[in-house]
Amino acid sequence: MPVNVLFSARAALWPVYEPLLTRYLTEAGLDFSLDTEFAPGEVDYVVYAPNGGLRDFTPYTRLKAVLSLWAGVESIADNETLTVPLARMVDHGLTQGMTEWVVGHVLRYHLGMDAHIHGLNGEWRQDVPPLASERRVTVLGLGALGEASVRALAALNFNVTGWSRSPKGIAGVTCLHGADGLVRALSNADIVVLLLPDTSATENTLDAETLALLPKGARIINPGRGPLINDDALLTALNAGQIGHATLDVFRTEPLPADHPYWTHPNVTVTPHIASETRPVTAAQVICENIRRGEAGEPFLHLVDRDLGY
Ligand code: NAP
Repeated sequence: MPVNVLFSARAALWPVYEPLLTRYLTEAGLDFSLDTEFAPGEVDYVVYAPNGGLRDFTPYTRLKAVLSLWAGVESIADNETLTVPLARMVDHGLTQGMTEWVVGHVLRYHLGMDAHIHGLNGEWRQDVPPLASERRVTVLGLGALGEASVRALAALNFNVTGWSRSPKGIAGVTCLHGADGLVRALSNADIVVLLLPDTSATENTLDAETLALLPKGARIINPGRGPLINDDALLTALNAGQIGHATLDVFRTEPLPADHPYWTHPNVTVTPHIASETRPVTAAQVICENIRRGEAGEPFLHLVDRDLGY
């Protein structure tokens, strides 16, 4: 009997993924059927994104795993109708894109590029930036994306601190964890990058209390998820100069509503959730490797801990 793989994601992605998944499933030597529609009781694997619309997994009685095309799984991790393994996306292309975006925005702040992009108004003001080794960058979250980002920043000689739930050791990076670790990580940060998942434990990681721990004028870069930041607290901190500038890629409501104060705040840069995305060529290989593993009885890669929510 063929392995039935349901593609449940944005319709526009089907022509992109169909040939890639076909190629890699064939290379894996699998007898398979791949489509955007099956009778639910005949599906073995779902290639999944929230915008495919699938919410109720109850009728999927033969399902072996759900394979997310997205790294962030907050919209499915607590789905009680899903009782089989859920794998999230860890994709080399996605990671590379995020690393480039994070390094670019850190360098913007570090080098003070805005002054020259907006113009010095004829004033020959020679503010030479310090070296990266004198700039303290803290990355909250040391998973697939956070670890790649801290490694890239450390390779540029930034003074890098990382923070995660469990202890870590990464060469050239001060790794902290737990509540005390967060206090240290923020107290010593000129620039903070958020690469945490959106879970009940990470909501409002930056609020009035934690924003106050940062050195005055610190900069914030959030490519993680909107709920990581308490927006009112951030706006208050920006207006008071406690936070010098924020670059925000993700928001509690997306698209960011037209009347949201972030759009017009002089010290906020809004980017429309473009920090990175899953890259089909590399992601299709990850999906197919997991289907191969499932059929070979091997452990799946990148499983979500449903209790932790990531
Ligand atoms: P990941 O591999 O699951 O890593 C998550 C990291 O956060 C881990 O280091 C984890 O600690 C840490 N963490 C989780 N809960 C924590 C807590 N309560 N306290 C302290 N640390 C905690 O995730 P990833 O692949 O790096 O992705 C991170 C997030 O980026 C995704 O969840 C998604 O929301 C976002 N994202 C955004 C875009 C975009 O375009 N803007 C694109 C892709 C992803 P441990 O290591 O100890 O488990």
